[in-house]
Amino acid sequence: MEPASDSNLSVPPRGVRRASQLYLFPLEMGGEKVEESRETIPQVWKGVSEKEWNDWRWQLRHRITTLEQLKGIIDLTPEEIGGIKHSKGRLALAVTPYFASLMDPINPNCPIRRQGIPRIEEIHLSKNEMVDPLGEDTHSPVPGLVHRYPDRVLLLVTDQCAVYCRYCTRRRLVGSNERSITQGNFEEVLKYLKSHRKVRDVLLSGGDPLLLENERLEEMLSRLRAIPHIELLRIGTRVPVTLPQRITSGLVRMLKKYHPLMISIHFTHPKEITDQARRACSELADGGIPLGSQTVLLKGINDKPHIMKKLVQELLKIRVRPYYIYQCDLAMGTEHFRTSVATGIQIMEKLRGHTTGYAVPTYVVDAPGGGGKIPLQPDYVVSKGRGKIVLRNYEGKVFEYPEPNIIEFKKTRSTVEEKAVPKKVMA
Ligand code: SF4
Repeated sequence: MEPASDSNLSVPPRGVRRASQLYLFPLEMGGEKVEESRETIPQVWKGVSEKEWNDWRWQLRHRITTLEQLKGIIDLTPEEIGGIKHSKGRLALAVTPYFASLMDPINPNCPIRRQGIPRIEEIHLSKNEMVDPLGEDTHSPVPGLVHRYPDRVLLLVTDQCAVYCRYCTRRRLVGSNERSITQGNFEEVLKYLKSHRKVRDVLLSGGDPLLLENERLEEMLSRLRAIPHIELLRIGTRVPVTLPQRITSGLVRMLKKYHPLMISIHFTHPKEITDQARRACSELADGGIPLGSQTVLLKGINDKPHIMKKLVQELLKIRVRPYYIYQCDLAMGTEHFRTSVATGIQIMEKLRGHTTGYAVPTYVVDAPGGGGKIPLQPDYVVSKGRGKIVLRNYEGKVFEYPEPNIIEFKKTRSTVEEKAVPKKVMA
């Protein structure tokens, strides 16, 4: 267990928030409004102490998992009530009090609410949907391990998350038992990795690896780090967004021992960037951990260029590098979240050249069935001709780029005094 002194002494007290967090505060972005972050403690938790609210274990213990609990916090629509009733036996409902405090109790289209509360559309299955959209199970040599690319593996260390995202691609697994990988399974994973010397990169995911207690997580990291050919450890998490209280100084002290270690955080909407999330990312970044964000493109949530632009710019401000925008996978019951690929490309068109290059992520489709990530971007090539390529820039202006004139050196003699004769050829 972590010492009590780890419990986020630097967390901003609940009463000390920026004005924009006390009220719904629309920001203008190129004439468009984007909802900013706010954290309003619902009445039901008004008596909860500061210490409890900032304790990640308290947050986990008090997750909202039933219709009755949710009813006391937000005005549910018939679509949400139907969705919650039908979520049993499908993807579980669980929302931390913190994440619930970001939800708009009135507006059912609130981006936080859309992500955490099931809707009746989840029971509508499309013919294209799959139980295992990325073919992970067929690339699993050992339970808990997915080995799809030659030099890197995905290690699923737990099926528990702080909040279950309604569009989760791994909904076949997450939330079913809320358990971590067994010791026996983990030993099998280590054995496999020791005998596969090409693997140099291990991504711990799940579920959310940061829901493990420090000791358990450290045991995993230290044993993976002890394998000589494992160069890089990575963690995929949504905890800085859904349970930022989990990012304690004790956790960061432990993680720092296992560098090079990188963390990919699943951010979706600018409204998720609260003071708590800022503090969590700041602690991690101060621990020397490179942070990237992975964002799923979601209809009605972040599928507008001005929202995505706001998100990527806010992420850079908290030292999180926008890494990927994912086209929504074909998980069961998620059709209502999917946008067209053209929407994603249009968003990229509005980012590249229109904001800092560091803020521009790679837009990818994770190929159905397990083909891996395929990058997509607007087509900037107008034409390719002999000796030149015609390109357009972000403003639509057209430019010619001459290809190099290749100088070919040809051996003319095989003596010690070799003479190179340049021969000019066109590309
Ligand atoms: S945090 Fe990740 S693994 Fe967990 S429910 Fe959300 S998308 Fe799925």
